[in-house]
Amino acid sequence: MTQTDQERWLRVRGRLRTEVGEDIFSSWFARMELEGIETDTVRLSVPTRFLKSWIQSHYGERVLSCWQGEEPALRRIDLAVRSAVIKSNATLIKVPEPAALPRESRDIRIDGGEPRSYYAPVSSSQEALGGSPLDPRLTFDSFVVGRSNTLAHAAAKQVALARRGDSVMFNPLYIHAGVGLGKTHLLQAVAWTGNTQPDRKVLYLTAEKFMYGFVSALRSQTAIAYKEALRGIDVLVIDDLQFLQGKSTQAEFSHTLNSLIDAGRQVVIAADRPPTELESLDERVRSRLAGGLVVEMGSLGEELRLEILISRIAAARVHHPGFDVPGPVLAYIAKSVTHNGRDLEGALNRLLAHSKLTGQPVTMELAEREIRDLIRPQEPKRVKIEDIQRIVARHYNVSRGDLLSSRRTANVVRPRQVAMYLAKTLTLRSLPEIGRRFGGRDHTTVLHAVRKIENLVGNDTALAEEIEALKRQLQE
Ligand code: ADP
Ligand code: MG
Repeated sequence: MTQTDQERWLRVRGRLRTEVGEDIFSSWFARMELEGIETDTVRLSVPTRFLKSWIQSHYGERVLSCWQGEEPALRRIDLAVRSAVIKSNATLIKVPEPAALPRESRDIRIDGGEPRSYYAPVSSSQEALGGSPLDPRLTFDSFVVGRSNTLAHAAAKQVALARRGDSVMFNPLYIHAGVGLGKTHLLQAVAWTGNTQPDRKVLYLTAEKFMYGFVSALRSQTAIAYKEALRGIDVLVIDDLQFLQGKSTQAEFSHTLNSLIDAGRQVVIAADRPPTELESLDERVRSRLAGGLVVEMGSLGEELRLEILISRIAAARVHHPGFDVPGPVLAYIAKSVTHNGRDLEGALNRLLAHSKLTGQPVTMELAEREIRDLIRPQEPKRVKIEDIQRIVARHYNVSRGDLLSSRRTANVVRPRQVAMYLAKTLTLRSLPEIGRRFGGRDHTTVLHAVRKIENLVGNDTALAEEIEALKRQLQE
């Protein structure tokens, strides 16, 4: 290769950088090298197969046209993967100063070792990636299985106990449930169990941590190292995916997801809604998420609540041997604190605090007084747009397809408007999102439907009752 070839390459790189912007350039092209130029072909190389296929499928044309700006006779880009020699150079990547993070997200390690240093070798993905902290109490042993979570528990356990090289059964495993129903508990149990297997790298991250890691890697020009480290994980566990925000992190999440799944690595995800309702994510990501096993955990029934309380008390007595809660009080808490697992824990903590501080036994009277504010009216059920469409369609004797279609005959227009109205009033979805879910309609159409039904309901008692009945049916 000649001196001028290298100079041309520098100019092409400059052109590429201007065209795609600094972030993309440093993520994908910073480690691309020129290997040589032959008549109509440029030979380039990158360090990983993933980079190669990503660049080929997303930037192949771009790279070629940047070269043609330099040398119009060029027709082909030949992109190869450089041998792994470079890796052994123990490249150091800088892990950014964590001081800006809230206290609890610092010292983020899942293997219980020492806090990480600021410089970590690329190969040590755990250190470079920094998982979120794990709570030692959230294990499979302390997870109580009941009707609402049997399937989620079984799937999580299966995934956690798989060995390296086992074929992956459901990928991704996607668990969704409302607040306090045990998602984090189950995911951390997966991480604890997975980490007991010496050759298996399990990383537990909240979506927020994932974003933070990626954004700071971009800022410190270590995005590639970060991506590579992520892709070296055997099991990636991501909690609260609904909080994933921002275009570039979502794109990055999508690449990570695809490459891990394609490489036969396990991905486990929890969120407060099903994949189809993760509005901010790209359609392709949503369908990939829905393509594994999607399991919902329902609310904790009374029996399950009672069992959780009993197991919590047993755990508390290890440190507080005098603590005891009489059976009727337990039954009372299980019956009345219906909201979620967090409130159950809160209720017990108050009783524990009270009994420690006053030395008095826990009585029914005390329990009633202490947990009064935790007794809330039953939380309204999460209503899904699909359910609305299904139930409205059935009620008006049309098909769900009719509701989503562009047909404008009166017998489908009214049911469609009712369904959109219910979607707006019973869910937290935005107008554009509702439009999208109704066959890709504009948000103004949805708004029109909502207003229309609102007006009608004011004057037409029969319709008002009909809608009330539909609402009740959806909230049961
Ligand atoms: P989520 O992440 O779904 O909001 P968490 O996993 O944080 O909920 O659960 C809230 C609390 O309820 C935690 O203390 C958790 O241990 C407890 N909990 C929920 N479900 C169960 C269960 N099936 N067995 C034992 N504890 C549970
Ligand atoms: Mg959680």
